[in-house]
Amino acid sequence: MTKFNLPYAQEISADKKTLYKNARIIDPKSGYDKLGNLLTIGNKISDFGEKIEASDAEIIDCKGNILAPGLIDIQVHFRDPGQSHKEDLTTGSKSAVAGGITTVVCQPNTSPTLDSVLTFDYLRLKAREAAYCNVKAYGCITKGMKGEELADMNSLKEAGAVGFTDDGLPVMNANVMRRAFEYSRNLDVVIAQHAEDLNLTNKGCIAEGKVSLELGVRGIPNISESVIVERDLAILEAVGGRYHLLHVSTREALDAIKRAKEKGLKATVEVSPHHFMLNETQVLKSGTNAKMNPPLRSEQDRLALIEGLRSGLIDAIATDHAPHDLASKEKTLEEASFGIVGVETMLPLALSLYHQGILSLKDLLAKMTCNAAKIINFDGGVIEKGARADLVLIDLESEWKIDSQKFYSKSKNSPFDGFKVKGRAVRTVVAGVAVFEI
Ligand SMILES: [Zn+2]
Repeated sequence: MTKFNLPYAQEISADKKTLYKNARIIDPKSGYDKLGNLLTIGNKISDFGEKIEASDAEIIDCKGNILAPGLIDIQVHFRDPGQSHKEDLTTGSKSAVAGGITTVVCQPNTSPTLDSVLTFDYLRLKAREAAYCNVKAYGCITKGMKGEELADMNSLKEAGAVGFTDDGLPVMNANVMRRAFEYSRNLDVVIAQHAEDLNLTNKGCIAEGKVSLELGVRGIPNISESVIVERDLAILEAVGGRYHLLHVSTREALDAIKRAKEKGLKATVEVSPHHFMLNETQVLKSGTNAKMNPPLRSEQDRLALIEGLRSGLIDAIATDHAPHDLASKEKTLEEASFGIVGVETMLPLALSLYHQGILSLKDLLAKMTCNAAKIINFDGGVIEKGARADLVLIDLESEWKIDSQKFYSKSKNSPFDGFKVKGRAVRTVVAGVAVFEI
């Protein structure tokens, strides 16, 4: 039977021991991959290896399943504060742990936006009371995400911001971006960009291409993304700092990141499962449930993203989990809201890259653990002695069908409804507590 526990409501005693036996332990950071046991004491990993035992521990038989660091999703929208009819910290995080995710990074486009210490305090206190996983957040680059005046990035970092973005909106003003990179350089945090030139987007609703032509709707061209990325990278090169490209969707933007990396610039990039799993034709099947921003692109773009994942150019996989109520989606393509839910489906969809032989398990998991952690300066995403006991147990072979009506999220907007997948989280552990088990 499926069970959930709130980790901080059940805060475990510092000497509580749990022994995970008979697991295939994979730590993507060190490359460790062996059958063995792992012992947690309190909220930390005490030790792991082939012969680790403990006489007074609770025993969990892992039955040969994969035991990995809990997954980190560095792009979610949990809609709290402001739109809790779509999602809140409890339902969003419940959905996340059911997908093997132990840490999320919320985007700051809430209402009010996360541009003040007060909103960060609210989020931290609420998460501790009501969330099933660790909840982190980006701060806004600009006040109210208006793109004009920089937010107080110093105090936001102190309040817990793991980086800065105006996600949902691009920073269109290049001078504002230049100032933001100066703070990025001095504070050693990323500036994460939702790359979209709003003038080029010109109210488009899906990718500009054969499907937008067929349906007679306005399209969003690839250059809408790539011109902003090229501009940002030119500023990065001149000013310094760190740049992170959110949810890349085009081959042109990916190529720009490749050139920046070759020059030694501090640039990283993430991709969302829908962009490497689906192309623009999905809109014909799923309608508004395949409408998101950036949009699903051509098959040529999708294949470039797969190659970027394979080669290591793409650092991380993140969902852009964007829940919407039915009313926001039961509209025309032009009028419906952008976005789909994703935290419950990230792991099984990503595992298809392993099952198809595109990525090794270690390299795939790295994109959802240690690589993601590095982007946000987080010490999680590893299996090491003394590391936080945030873990996921993965059954690689379990075959199942995605049923959006069964999502723990408040919203069901997914183009993956009915997809057959292989592999799932069977136990998720946050701070030593089994927050999800089936
Ligand atoms: Zn975005």
